[in-house]
Amino acid sequence: MSGLACALEFKKNGYTPVIFEKKSELGGCFTGIWLRMFTKHFCDPINYIKKTYSLDIQPLNRLNKIIMKFPNKQVYVSGNLGYIMNRTSDKGSLENQIAQQTNIEVSFNSDIKVEDIKNNFDYVIVASGTHTPAENLGLWTNTSIFHTKIAQVKSNFKPGVCTVWFNREYANHSFCYIIPKTSSVATLVQVLDGIPKDKHNLYWDKFLDMEELKYEILEIKDITHYSGFVYPMQVDNILFTGNAAGLTDDLIGIGAYNAVISGILAARSITHNLDYNAIMSPYRKDIIKIHEFRKALNTFDNHDFDMLASFIGAPIIKQMIYNNPFFKIRHAYPLARGYNWFRQYK
Ligand SMILES: Cc1cc2nc3c(=O)[nH]c(=O)nc-3n(C[C@H](O)[C@H](O)[C@H](O)COP(=O)(O)OP(=O)(O)OC[C@H]3O[C@@H](n4cnc5c(N)ncnc54)[C@H](O)[C@@H]3O)c2cc1C
Repeated sequence: MSGLACALEFKKNGYTPVIFEKKSELGGCFTGIWLRMFTKHFCDPINYIKKTYSLDIQPLNRLNKIIMKFPNKQVYVSGNLGYIMNRTSDKGSLENQIAQQTNIEVSFNSDIKVEDIKNNFDYVIVASGTHTPAENLGLWTNTSIFHTKIAQVKSNFKPGVCTVWFNREYANHSFCYIIPKTSSVATLVQVLDGIPKDKHNLYWDKFLDMEELKYEILEIKDITHYSGFVYPMQVDNILFTGNAAGLTDDLIGIGAYNAVISGILAARSITHNLDYNAIMSPYRKDIIKIHEFRKALNTFDNHDFDMLASFIGAPIIKQMIYNNPFFKIRHAYPLARGYNWFRQYK
């Protein structure tokens, strides 16, 4: 997605990029969300991208409600929380929406190594969604590795309403969630950290069993996701964007908005001769701040998760956070840092 957004911006400025794609089609295998609390700018993320960069993105739905199920408590938040986005290979997916506006041919089935092409092009934008290109150049600091099981499931769903589950017994320090694509199809995801590979299926079965989820499973995939920091984000003629630049947070894995923006800014930094490392610095700093929350969650047991439920479910917190367009998760960073400091010396 960051690569396509980058290509679109190049084209607008009169440059013709070449797009290489490893797979045979665009798009992924899930329905995702854009959470306003996690996006950098204070205004509506879709409007921001449209007004600032003339990129038109259509969501599947507004995200109106999130139900959070903790081991012994349940909390819900509602309001203008963000958007539900199609990230499949459908025509309407975000990737295909951007590709249609780009109108540049994609060279499919091209598994590219940066080293092999860096001398053949003026610039190489690494938008591979993987950590290895930055790691190979010694620019990657790993923070977390998540194993995700992604299932497309069939049942009856309320569009615009997502559910998240937290429970050490089947998600360790991470979580599971469901996001409806339509009223009959949804993406059900389990995110696991620190559990050996041979136990993943056991944890998945435990999740379905404990939560009594009896959906018809249409498709299921396993993906390993690496989170980390990248610095610098440009070395010589190589620029890193999106997930390859470590721009997906490791608290809940939100990264699509940063992917689009970083792709556009990578192109702008070249067409307008700007310092890419400097313009990406605020985004990188946000990811580092959000990582403090991940560190806190990694110490939680089920009792702590229930305490968290009481905290985020308190009416004053609900009012201050979810219905406040000016509140961003990064603003609560001192709280997470203070908690981690306290835990360290307890
Ligand atoms: C299960 C899961 C759920 C997620 N849910 C959300 C969510 O709800 N909200 C959100 O904001 N973010 C979510 N994310 C994160 C989000 O998907 C990423 O932040 C975003 O896709 C990053 O975009 P990107 O352009 O950097 O990489 P990608 O979208 O991953 O695109 C990279 C592309 O590069 C191709 N490629 C890889 N290697 C090569 C190569 N060597 N040569 C050529 N092509 C190559 C890949 O095939 C792919 O098409 C989720 C991630 C996962 C794994």
